[in-house]
Amino acid sequence: MKAHRYTMKWDLDVFFKGGSQSKEFKQYVERLEQDAQTFDTEVKELPVTDTEAWKKVIRFLQNIGTRLSQAHSFVSCLTAQNVKDEQAKLLQGRLSQLDAVLHRTGTRLDQKMLEVSEKDWDALLKDSEIQPVSFKLREQRRRAKEKMAPELESLVGDLSVDGYHAWGDLYDTIVGRMSIPFEEDGEVKELSVGQANNKLHSSNRQTRQRAFRQLSEAWEKESDLCASALNHLAGYRLNLYRNRGWDSVLKEPVEINRMSEATLQTMWDVISQNKAKILEYMKRKASLLGLKALSWYDIYAPVSTKEQKVSYDEAADFITEQFGRFSPAMANFAKTAFELRWIEAEDRPGKRPGGFCTTFPESGQSRIFMTYAGTASNVATLAHELGHAYHSYVMRDLPSLARRYSMSVAETASTFAETLVADAAIQHASTKEQKIALLEDKLQRAVAFFMDIHARFLFETRFYEKRSKGLLTAADLNQLTLEAEKEAFQGALEEYHPHFWASKLHFYITGVPFYNFPYTFGYLFSTGIYARAQQEGPAFADRYVALLRDTGSMTVEGLAQKHLGVDLTRPDFWQTAIRVVHEDVDRFLQLTEK
Ligand SMILES: [Zn+2]
Repeated sequence: MKAHRYTMKWDLDVFFKGGSQSKEFKQYVERLEQDAQTFDTEVKELPVTDTEAWKKVIRFLQNIGTRLSQAHSFVSCLTAQNVKDEQAKLLQGRLSQLDAVLHRTGTRLDQKMLEVSEKDWDALLKDSEIQPVSFKLREQRRRAKEKMAPELESLVGDLSVDGYHAWGDLYDTIVGRMSIPFEEDGEVKELSVGQANNKLHSSNRQTRQRAFRQLSEAWEKESDLCASALNHLAGYRLNLYRNRGWDSVLKEPVEINRMSEATLQTMWDVISQNKAKILEYMKRKASLLGLKALSWYDIYAPVSTKEQKVSYDEAADFITEQFGRFSPAMANFAKTAFELRWIEAEDRPGKRPGGFCTTFPESGQSRIFMTYAGTASNVATLAHELGHAYHSYVMRDLPSLARRYSMSVAETASTFAETLVADAAIQHASTKEQKIALLEDKLQRAVAFFMDIHARFLFETRFYEKRSKGLLTAADLNQLTLEAEKEAFQGALEEYHPHFWASKLHFYITGVPFYNFPYTFGYLFSTGIYARAQQEGPAFADRYVALLRDTGSMTVEGLAQKHLGVDLTRPDFWQTAIRVVHEDVDRFLQLTEK
């Protein structure tokens, strides 16, 4: 193998020298802490009718926000690269305290916004300095207005620590102490939930099936506790909504994702109408695995056991080349990221699992974290994270309040980049078997977004509906899950997963409600954009950047209308996006025909 051209370790010294022992960083945090206090005083004393004072506070807010992100990014890179870095954990604790201080100031600022008259507020937002961040400010004021009086919301915040978030913590405790007996090589081992879940991806069906049975049994044992946690956190949420005068349980989730309920409904309708093709794929996959129909534990199973390794340099070149076919700017960006060591990819012990991309807004740079071992899925992750980094890069000169995008569009650039590379990899695959494996990997994602996540959405919506009338037993929850799964998979599975409601952490996340549909939205929104890029070729590259730059300052409907000329509440756009997936299914069916 030829010498490594690209280093697989990232450069953090360019931000602060010396890692978690950095004196420079310590001083940075100290200044930030002092400024946070000053900022709090300025907000407290802000004369709400004074435009210049408002402008000063908004400038200050953005400045502090940028520096705090910079600090958070640095610390998350430190804790990820070495999970045993105790000093980094202390720094993390210190930043959490700073977050809490700024959160309180934020509530104070919301209150001040509500004290401004409509007329003065409109005038302020039209000011040439404020206008670029007016979307975010308008949103913040509207959200504050739709809540209860500030002193009540502040009480809610205090009570939620033990009365709401604690249910999520309890769930984590339940999962943390669970142990799943699993026999391997004639020896029974006790597995954690995470370890047992990994067995569901095994290429051996018996292994998958046994893991599934053991997991189901374990969840059944804990189901009364899980049911209690789920019932109470949902009850808390429903009561809060009622007191705020909100009538729909979807109000908060769609608001957070800057979309309308109509868009969400249209998306699910179009997906439901287009599942037949996906079922064809599932049927073929079943026959490749020697089965009549797939069961829950077969969905994410590989169809091939052979895997070809790709070196890091090869992956870097391949990704850069594929980006370049669509946009030279994107290719240059990727090249810079590899050359200037924006990526931590080394395969070594002591690193956190998984991958992420984080932005250093003050420096206009990003850092990507992952462990690269040369698999096809590693190449996909690398492309995915570079997509995130590109998204931040094209927004780097925007004011801080115009750079914050919602979860619904957060995966637009990453999915787009991943698809560019995945499609090229399929095209360049040297054997038919490899082609099939890569294509199948892509289609598994379609099943996840169209069926699996749809089931979660249906379950959660119906659960809240029933919960508003009373408590549900574990048996009720099993039944509700089973019905949602059967509907979402259109009856295609042989065996379902009735304990899914207990097993999925996302239902217990209190920070974000309905942690499911934004995934599907993001995937399909990006796929629709990809379809447009295929149609228009490199000519679309500039408009793609313009769209990304607006993700922090528009609703999803606004983005689609302005940059793609489509109405997301109508089926057309979604239909075009699904066609891309259908083409993959056709290719898969063709390749696997006997
Ligand atoms: Zn991502």
